[in-house]
Amino acid sequence: MWINYKFSTIIPHYFHTISTRQIIDYELVFYYNNLCMKEEVKIWDNLLDEISKDVSSVSFDLWFKNLEPISLDFGKLILVCSSDKQKELLKSSDYKKYFTNSIKKLNNPLVTECVVINKNEKESYIKDNKSIELESSKEDSIEETVPYKFNENYTFDNFVVGNSNNIAKAAAFAVAQNPGKSHNPLFIYGGVGLGKTHILHAIGNYVTSHNPSANIIYTTTEQFVNNYVYSITHNKNNEQNFKFREKYRKADILMLDDVQFLSGKDSSQEAIFHTFNDLYQANKQIVLTSDRHPRELNFLEERLRSRFQSGLNVDISSPDLETRIAIIQKKAFQQNFNFSKSIVYFIAENITSNIREIEGALKKVIFYCQLNNKDCADDLSIVREALKDDIDISSHILTMDSITDAVCSYYNITKEEIKGGKKSKNIALPRQVAIYLILELLSLPQMTVSDYFGDRDHSAIIYARDKIATSLETDNLLKKQVKDIRNIIQKN
Ligand code: ADP
Ligand code: MG
Repeated sequence: MWINYKFSTIIPHYFHTISTRQIIDYELVFYYNNLCMKEEVKIWDNLLDEISKDVSSVSFDLWFKNLEPISLDFGKLILVCSSDKQKELLKSSDYKKYFTNSIKKLNNPLVTECVVINKNEKESYIKDNKSIELESSKEDSIEETVPYKFNENYTFDNFVVGNSNNIAKAAAFAVAQNPGKSHNPLFIYGGVGLGKTHILHAIGNYVTSHNPSANIIYTTTEQFVNNYVYSITHNKNNEQNFKFREKYRKADILMLDDVQFLSGKDSSQEAIFHTFNDLYQANKQIVLTSDRHPRELNFLEERLRSRFQSGLNVDISSPDLETRIAIIQKKAFQQNFNFSKSIVYFIAENITSNIREIEGALKKVIFYCQLNNKDCADDLSIVREALKDDIDISSHILTMDSITDAVCSYYNITKEEIKGGKKSKNIALPRQVAIYLILELLSLPQMTVSDYFGDRDHSAIIYARDKIATSLETDNLLKKQVKDIRNIIQKN
């Protein structure tokens, strides 16, 4: 039976004295490794496929093809090469990037890094049962707890609130004001780039400023797992294991970011379970984030999943248009940069998926404007150019601007006129048509449209839309004009 085999073969290499807890840890590590025994070959085959797409066939044959996968050690795929020269080369950043890229593309949670060792090391690796120092593991050692430096921009004040995130923000704020007392654990879930990490840092910043002596631990799940693995694989005299427990179980607030990365990390789940229980029983606050609701974390042990669900679960979803507009305005303002309203709308209408992408789009637009010596983005063509890779400009993009442009050119008037105050029929009718089409074709709040048309009264917008809608029932000329304009819009 493998458990007996494990106890007789592995433990003597590691311990002078051994506790029951360590036995359990080792059992899990061994079990995990056992499960992964054949996985390394499969994973390496898939990685090789990806690498072959990126490197020349000569490099591929010379440097990658002959690597031998010997083990998958907590995310580290150990590859054996045939010479020191090959090892040196594969460690250089020029070549290392091929491993990193292929891992990213493969997106298999079981592998996070490739570690190349040479033939001599292979022998000692196998003999000592993985006791060689893996190169990146130093960073994962558990050092004396130093206060975590939260990102000072990630505060509650800088967090723009809308329908998509107001509950998460309110819950997080309540936790920051009263750690351990209001919602415990607080579990925040939602897609990438929607502000989960921002909220955790906001809690950290808030608590630090109100209670500087609080012991707040923020950690990514990946870092937690690495710390844990280090603590059990470098556990001379029980020191690392002790440090690990001390670090995490002395927290007043423990924030664990992206727990979906616990997938396949069975023994770390065990460590989290015990940490969770200790903290929870001591009324310490726990905050977790994930890309999905805890009930959908199928790979978690049931007892851990039910712990995660036992407090308050709140979601953050994609921001609606108004929130996107507010975020763009706030971020531009923070960078002392101005966007005209129509540019703000253009970006908000076209970059819809998440806030990280909105930030990326803003950076590009600002950069392009600076290239053109402008400190204000008011030229749609520059913005289109800046964002040509982010939005499908060639496809049909309907915006308030594109509709207004079509109406202006059809009636041969300027944008200033259509947005201005003139009430003469040759301007008022196109204005009403533009308002009608915008409300009909874009699902925008009326406030946004009244802003766009020079802060017109809200009722003026409703009046314009209703007037055209009613006239269309009887006025054939207007019917033809609106139809023509729709055709122009659709062809653009
Ligand atoms: P997640 O952790 O959900 O992937 P992040 O917290 O890293 O997302 O957010 C991505 C970026 O978007 C960060 O720079 C963050 O400051 C910003 N961000 C997210 N939500 C908001 C918001 N509501 N207001 C302002 N900035 C936000
Ligand atoms: Mg995050």
